Amino acid sequence: MFLTITATGSPERPATDLGYLLHKHPDNAQAFSTSYGTAHVVYSEASVERCTAALLLELDTVAMVRRGKGKGRGGAPDAALAQYVNDRPYAASSLLAVALSAVFSSAMKGQCNARPDLPARPLPLRVEVPALPARGGADLVRGLFEPLGWTVTVEAVPLDVEFPEWGDSRYVRLVLESARLTLSEALRHLYVLLPVLDDAKHYWVSSDEVDKLLRAGEGWLPDHPEQQLITSRYLSRRWSLTREAMERLELVRLAEADDSAVEEIDNAVAEESGPEEDTEEAAEDTADKAVSLAVQRRDAILAALHTSGSARVLDLGCGQGQLVQALLKDTRFDEIVGVDVSMRALTVAARRLKLDRMGERQAARVKLVQGSLAYTDKRLKGYDAAVLSEVIEHLDLPRLPALEYAVFGSARPRTVLVTTPNVEYNVRWETLAAGHSRHGDHRFEWTREEFRTWAGRVAQRHGYDVEFTPVGPDDPEVGPPTQMATFSIRTARTTAKEEKAA
Ligand code: SAH
Repeated sequence: MFLTITATGSPERPATDLGYLLHKHPDNAQAFSTSYGTAHVVYSEASVERCTAALLLELDTVAMVRRGKGKGRGGAPDAALAQYVNDRPYAASSLLAVALSAVFSSAMKGQCNARPDLPARPLPLRVEVPALPARGGADLVRGLFEPLGWTVTVEAVPLDVEFPEWGDSRYVRLVLESARLTLSEALRHLYVLLPVLDDAKHYWVSSDEVDKLLRAGEGWLPDHPEQQLITSRYLSRRWSLTREAMERLELVRLAEADDSAVEEIDNAVAEESGPEEDTEEAAEDTADKAVSLAVQRRDAILAALHTSGSARVLDLGCGQGQLVQALLKDTRFDEIVGVDVSMRALTVAARRLKLDRMGERQAARVKLVQGSLAYTDKRLKGYDAAVLSEVIEHLDLPRLPALEYAVFGSARPRTVLVTTPNVEYNVRWETLAAGHSRHGDHRFEWTREEFRTWAGRVAQRHGYDVEFTPVGPDDPEVGPPTQMATFSIRTARTTAKEEKAA
C-alpha cells in the first residue's frame, strides 16, 4: 500500500523543499520498522520543478496476526482465513495513516528546525493514492476533501480489468491537488480521512483516539460539513467517544469562532469597574463602587461556602480566576477547580495564579479545565460545592436548561451558589441609560422575582432547597445590585425532618 506526495516549485521556491519539510533527504531511500511491517520513504524524482516522495508500507501480515493486530476487517476474529488473505498489503488504510504519522510526525506537526519559515507556507501539492478503499463511494470522497480546499479526482477501480462486466470494486484511485494548503494540513487531512474512508480500524479504539483526532483535526475539523460522519467513523462508531469528540469540537468552535468568549473576559473586567462613564471623575466614583461590589460578591461567596462546610469547590465560568485565587488563599479549601469555556480566560487565570511557579502542595489543590457548562461533564462530579458567579446571564436563555441539567442534574454538588445582577437596581447606576444592561454580553438580566422563580423551579426539579442573599447595599425599593441563591441538596434527612414538621 502506498501513496505519493508531489510538490511543484520554481527556482525561488524549489520543489525539493519538500525534503526539508518531510525531514527525509531526497537522495536517500529510508526504511522504518513499525509494528505492522516496514515503512519505506523513497523519492521518485527530486528537481527544482518537481519533487515526489512515496510512502510505501510493506506489511508483515503474519506477524500482525500473531500479535493479534490483524483482527481484520470488521473485527471478525473467527474469519481465520481473512486474517491472512485480505486487501491489507495493497490498499491504503488506517495502517498507512498510522505509518504516515510515525514517519512524518514532525511534518504533521508543522515543525522544521532547519527551515523554520517553510511549514507555514502553502505549497502546490499533489497527493496520489492508487488504491483506496472508499466506503461511501466517490461522492463521499469528494464530500470529505473538497471542503478542505482540494481539487479531487476519483476514479473507480474495476473489480477485474479482464471482466469489465463485473463492475467496479470498492476501491478508488484518488488524486488530490491544491496550492492553498500547507504540508502539515495535507498530512493531517490524510491521517484522519484515509481511515474514515476505509472505515475499518485495525486497532482497538481507546479514548486517547479522541485526542489524536482533535489534534490532527485542528483548524479544519471544527468547521467541516461532514464532521459528524468523520468523527463517528474515525472513532469506529463508538458512540460515547464520538459524543465526547463532538462536544469538544463544539468547545473549540465556541472558543475560537465565538470571539465573544474573548470579549466576555474583557467585559468581565470592565464590569468590575462598573458601567461605562462619561467623565473620568464619575468613572472613578463608579469604579470604586463596582470594584467593591466585586469584592463584596467574593466575600459573600466565601462566607456561604464556609457555612456549607465545603472543601472541594468548582468555580464554573471562573473567567480570569479572581475567585480561584481567593479560594486558594484559604486553607479550608482542599481542592479548587476553575472551569471556563474560554481558553483565553484560562490562560490569564493561569498567569494570575502563577500556576507554573507554584509549589507542589499548592499546585495539587488547584486545577483549571476548559469545558462548556452547556454539556454534562464527568470531571465535575463529586464536589462539595459549585459556584456560578455572574455566569448564567452570559448564556442565551434557551441554553440555560442545558446548564441547569449539567450542574444540578449531572454534577450534583451538595451546594450550588448562583449570583446574577438584579436588573431593578440598574436605575441606581446613575450613568446607565434606561433599559440598558450592565454590559454588552449579558443575554438577560432578571428582577428579583424572575430570579426567585427560576431558582425555585430548578431547586424543585433537581431536589435542592434554595435561599436568597442580597449582595451589596440592599436598597429598600429596588433591592441589592447583585442577587445570590444558595442551593443545598435535599438529603433523606432534610426530607424526613420536613415530613415530620408537616
Ligand atoms: N465568574 C467570574 C467571571 C464571570 S464572566 C466572575 O464572577 O467574575 C462569565 C464567564 O463565563 C466568562 O469567563 C465566560 O467565558 C464564561 N462562560 C460563558 N458561557 C460559558 C459556558 N457555556 N461554559 C463555561 N463558561 C462559560
